[in-house]
Amino acid sequence: MNVNDTEIAWAILQKSGYTRAKEADEADVILLVTCSVRDKAEQAIWNRLQHLKALKARRRQACLPLRIGILGCMAERLKEEILHREKLVDIVAGPDAYRDLPRLLAVAESGQQAANVLLSLDETYADILPVQTSAGGKTAFVSIMRGCDNMCSYCIVPFTRGRERSRPIASILQEVKILSDQGVKEVTLLGQNVNSFRDMSEVQFQSAATPVLSRGFSTVYKAKPGGLRFAHLLDQVSRIDPEMRIRFTSPHPKDFPDEVLQLIQERHNICKQLHLPAQSGSTRVLEAMRRGYTREAYLELVQHVRNTIPGVSLSSDFIAGFCGETEEDHQQTVSLLREVRYNVGFLFAYSMRQKTRAYHRLQDDVPADVKQRRLEELITVFREEAARANEAMVGQSQLVLVEGPSKRSASELCGRNDGNIKVIFPDADTEDAGGCKALVRAQPGDYVLVKVTCL
Ligand code: SF4
Repeated sequence: MNVNDTEIAWAILQKSGYTRAKEADEADVILLVTCSVRDKAEQAIWNRLQHLKALKARRRQACLPLRIGILGCMAERLKEEILHREKLVDIVAGPDAYRDLPRLLAVAESGQQAANVLLSLDETYADILPVQTSAGGKTAFVSIMRGCDNMCSYCIVPFTRGRERSRPIASILQEVKILSDQGVKEVTLLGQNVNSFRDMSEVQFQSAATPVLSRGFSTVYKAKPGGLRFAHLLDQVSRIDPEMRIRFTSPHPKDFPDEVLQLIQERHNICKQLHLPAQSGSTRVLEAMRRGYTREAYLELVQHVRNTIPGVSLSSDFIAGFCGETEEDHQQTVSLLREVRYNVGFLFAYSMRQKTRAYHRLQDDVPADVKQRRLEELITVFREEAARANEAMVGQSQLVLVEGPSKRSASELCGRNDGNIKVIFPDADTEDAGGCKALVRAQPGDYVLVKVTCL
């Protein structure tokens, strides 16, 4: 989301005449797009500001003023603290205030601090074509919705990114079409809750039926009837360019009705890869997290997904040491990791955030060393199981979208398979699939068939 926010901010600034400096040392303005999900992400920004302090002083001595801005979730959460604690920050702009950046920078030019952290009920930046920054320009992010209404008890996102709102389908389709015309081969649809997408902009769909949730799942908010839903969007997006891969992130497991799963199974260019963030394997902890499902319902969904989309690659998020998590709860998460055997995982120790329900009502009572030990256990188990899951690919031919040179060696290329797993292969002459038997070198944006030899 922050890469995409950066691209949106860039589009707004370019329109106002700003251009990108080659090096940070040469820039007149430095903007940091920030994350508040964990304390560690915020600490990284505080540290970065210390480095920028020296740069700003050097430039002042040379009569070259430098303006520094904090954008995104940290700006939203800590506006006052940022402006007072770090006098070197000139502007603060929350996730819904990027359109205001030119004005904020103009205020900063006059030597004053400027801030806008107003959250919006309808800002989706629908009319802004982001300036693509991804490597090689063959993959792109397309934001389809912003904000979240789920209020998981540990999560700061609803407070920093505001209420859930979806971008009109017409503007999403237009952006994907432009990207396809530019030669982009993979689009990732983005949102905090991408699969609860609900476009209410087209009047005739405003009173349509209530959405169907995954079996055994519930929400903290009342059902939201009407609107064009995620299955419709996915269907339309995937029809634009059959050679363009479609991914989406981050979904909530509650919003996987059968029509979405069946569409993924049927449409060859929708990647067979699902992120199913579990967070915990213990029903008791899931309840404290207000996730709206039990361990059993989650496992039933995993089975249903695998039955509907054979060979699907699964990923998940887990939090180690949430409030009240006992050793037994932790073992439940270990056993969930073993049982599901994910291909990819994102695992973190719990970090309490102010404003959240957990902050007000629960005790952050798992000691830091215990959180760390549990996290390490989860990572070990996840890696063992992922190796087993990915072993199945050895000996198979995988269709890989070439991204560019591998970081490992100049004689190798890297790309991703349909399941979003990185594949590294020799940069050698390859037979062209066009039938003319010509030997060609694969380029970024090409699809190549790679036989997997080892993990
Ligand atoms: S679904 Fe839960 S974890 Fe995800 S953004 Fe919303 S509140 Fe946060």
